[in-house]
Amino acid sequence: MVRTRFAPSPTGYLHIGGVRTALFNWLFARKHGGQFLLRIDDTDQQRNVEAALKPILDGFRWLGIDWDEGPEVGGPHAPYYQSQRSARYQTAVDRLLESGAAYRDFAKTEEVQAEREAAKKEERTFVYSRRFMAETDAQAAAFESEGRQGVVRIKTPRDGTLVIDDLVRGRVEFPWANEQDHVIQRADGTCLYHLASVVDDFDFQISHVIRAEEHLSNTPRQVFIAQALGYPLPQYAHLPYVAEPGSKTKMSKRKLDKYLKNVDFKKVNDQGLKIAQAIGLTTSAETFNPVIVDFYEQVGYLPDAIINYLLLLGWSLDDKTEIFSRDAMIANFSLERVNKAPASFDPQKLVSFQERYMNALPLKQKVALVLPYLQRAGLISSPPPCDTGPRLSAVLTAAGDRIKVAGDILECREFFVADDALEYDEAAFQKRLRDAPESVALLRKFRDRLATVEPFDVPTLEAALNEFVAAEGIKVAQIIHALRVALTGKGVGFGLFDTLAILGRESSLARIDRAVAKLAAS
Ligand code: GLU
Repeated sequence: MVRTRFAPSPTGYLHIGGVRTALFNWLFARKHGGQFLLRIDDTDQQRNVEAALKPILDGFRWLGIDWDEGPEVGGPHAPYYQSQRSARYQTAVDRLLESGAAYRDFAKTEEVQAEREAAKKEERTFVYSRRFMAETDAQAAAFESEGRQGVVRIKTPRDGTLVIDDLVRGRVEFPWANEQDHVIQRADGTCLYHLASVVDDFDFQISHVIRAEEHLSNTPRQVFIAQALGYPLPQYAHLPYVAEPGSKTKMSKRKLDKYLKNVDFKKVNDQGLKIAQAIGLTTSAETFNPVIVDFYEQVGYLPDAIINYLLLLGWSLDDKTEIFSRDAMIANFSLERVNKAPASFDPQKLVSFQERYMNALPLKQKVALVLPYLQRAGLISSPPPCDTGPRLSAVLTAAGDRIKVAGDILECREFFVADDALEYDEAAFQKRLRDAPESVALLRKFRDRLATVEPFDVPTLEAALNEFVAAEGIKVAQIIHALRVALTGKGVGFGLFDTLAILGRESSLARIDRAVAKLAAS
């Protein structure tokens, strides 16, 4: 039975690289008809775990990565929180101490540090001397009487080599001489990640540990612990990093300033900030940027686009297939086809997946997707008036691929404001109207045409303008720019006849009148 897990620490945010790791675990489990678990690596000291976990669980829910056991859903091996499993870890520590695979150590931090520095000076690999190792209760008592406090360390082999067959990296050798006697339990009794992780993976019957490459170096100590406890080993698969844009270094949210120097990253980030601002979202770079999943949800990306992009960030079926439905991903996924080299995060590529998924989305779903943005920006009431659906459909159709993410609908806000609340781009107003009196004269004349043209639809409007241009002996450019600014307040936009038809006769005339009045007033 295949059982995989993703083990987030409750940090308050879901990293895009974490999603990629979780996705591969999820796909592997689904492909083999197994289970995918969420195991929470929280610590005893941590407060507000639920709050810090919420964005992570919400992120997975939004992305459609469901978990069979773990927080909220429970399961036969509950609790799935590290902080609630201390008693279980204590049993494991006791067993390791009994068997001699671990020992109580009474060295002070500075004493170990001194050994470490000496090794460095002599240019040899540091190995702890075990000088303060207590093998009997009497020894421990003697150290304690000196006021020393004991931690528990694993007693790692000093020679030989551990060989792991990693499902991504292949055969990996770890000489034991490079390993340390890692602390597994602190003086205050709390257990550390290596021990907790091994015990949890065993208790939860995890068959495959699929995780980020940074944990490869943790594997020997974890294998040592597992073997000392008599646990069967899971299979390991270490995934390459999701690397920074244009580099091979692991992407981290702490280096945002650096990533913002990347034009594509900055573009995606700035557009997100603009949308967030328009819908009244309070954001901070800590929790709202393209390294973090919540950013994409808030801005209006499609979960399927993100998942599809992340799938190909480190995995490929062949050199050409790019679009995968969830079913196709599950059917085709294999760890053998995971790349060994880190894949660098390419915001532009993500946007291109988003565009493709957005274009393929049925209009009705697009309407439902963008509506909340207009409502949150205060442009449409809730519940929406009954003409909202048709108008939104018309705007979306006319806007075509200009709407790349749901929040982009706010670029078309002019279709949702009252005629007397339309705002003007002052530069466009100046150029196309104030500085172009002959265009304004034409606009006034064409207004009378618009008052009577029947029906008020795209082909009739187009024919009317062509006729007007011919009759006046002018070029179309002499009127359309002025007309667009009057109707939309902006110098650029989608098709002018679409714009007129969507606004309708009454609004179109009112807007032209308002622009003309504004000219007269100044
Ligand atoms: N909590 C660890 C992390 O977030 C889990 C490591 C593991 O998968 O073993 O990196």
